[in-house]
Amino acid sequence: INNLSRLSEKQATAGQLAAGLAHEIRNPITAIKGFLQLLMGENVGNRIYFEIINSEIDRIEEILKELMVLAKPTKQKYERVNLQSLLEQVITLMVSQALLNNIQIVTQIDFSYTWITGDKNQLKQVFINFIKNAIEAMPEGGMVQINGSPLACGQVRISITDQGCGIPEDILNQIGQPFFTTKENGTGLGLLVSREIIKEHKGDLYIESNKNGTTLHVEFPLSSEQ
Ligand code: ADP
Ligand code: MG
Repeated sequence: INNLSRLSEKQATAGQLAAGLAHEIRNPITAIKGFLQLLMGENVGNRIYFEIINSEIDRIEEILKELMVLAKPTKQKYERVNLQSLLEQVITLMVSQALLNNIQIVTQIDFSYTWITGDKNQLKQVFINFIKNAIEAMPEGGMVQINGSPLACGQVRISITDQGCGIPEDILNQIGQPFFTTKENGTGLGLLVSREIIKEHKGDLYIESNKNGTTLHVEFPLSSEQ
């Protein structure tokens, strides 16, 4: 019985499997890319074919990068994370992309004394994915609002609102499915990966959407020491 229970503890989740697979595929892809660069130099006449191969490989790399975020850090690596500085770091990362798209990020949070428990990089990735989607939902520009408040019962909620055209109901039912995307260059992995990370952190995700925009609410349990 002991051995059996140990075996099941070692079983990987689908997310970890995907992350492991992504990791394994990355090395051969890197090698292929290197040799492709060499061949490109020697076959100037076939430049256009090489460029297609190159951009397809870039796309594979992008998908792998997203999946690799799911590689689970051992629970021991979970640490106390200050939510204010985490969100500030994320916004600093996103602000130039926002400005380039004529988008303003407006925050109304006071999380200076709010800590959650988790993996910093994974948590950052969740908010990066949501803000990226918000930006991509507003091709004409607009505002991304980030609001937050502590809830009763030891939870905290962060809400990210955009002024995009919203998610139609039939699409709402499909999002979060692997590779489901409505974007020409989308991977359809952002929400799936985010949801997986949130679940791993014992959090919840709610999506609210109408034709005036979309709000994603993320909730996490507060760290036991505040
Ligand atoms: P990707 O961004 O690569 O398409 P995601 O998993 O991040 O993959 O999102 C899946 C789909 O969900 C998007 O293609 C889009 O149709 C929809 N979506 C996600 N976030 C928003 C949003 N804020 N506003 C409108 N649609 C959204
Ligand atoms: Mg996305």
